[in-house]
Amino acid sequence: MDIVFVEHDDNDKFRDVRLRNKFSSVINSLESRLLAVYTELNESVLSAARISIMDATSVIDCTCCTRNKNNKNLFFIKMVFSSSNDAVEMLIHKLCHVMQYLSGQLDAGSSESELTWKGEKFILSDIEPHRMPWERDAILNALTLHKYYMASSSST
Ligand SMILES: [Zn+2]
Repeated sequence: MDIVFVEHDDNDKFRDVRLRNKFSSVINSLESRLLAVYTELNESVLSAARISIMDATSVIDCTCCTRNKNNKNLFFIKMVFSSSNDAVEMLIHKLCHVMQYLSGQLDAGSSESELTWKGEKFILSDIEPHRMPWERDAILNALTLHKYYMASSSST
């Protein structure tokens, strides 16, 4: 996976090299584990992915993860930093959405207002965020991956 930090003008946490390095190391240390969790994936699919990460704390936007329409290897993740959330946990959650797209579980619908999950179409306005099956899947898998990350980072 190729990780790009998008820099912008205001309130940009990613000017901090330590934070960028931390995020890169989280993603790198989870690569093999992601393949174990998302078994439909393989190494070549994973290595072709390019993820742009932006600090969107100052932007009111709850989008978890978006995929570029023209180049399906390009993903965009917006991070919101606050004292009440764990940035690493949030990063791993969003990484799960990237994996859902790459593995074909999650796919764009025929319009912006819908998504397809495992072949089933969902109208986004009809369903509360916490009931969306891809959110439940990401929350569960992120929990497993976060535990793995914490265990592996404390043993080194
Ligand atoms: Zn999510």
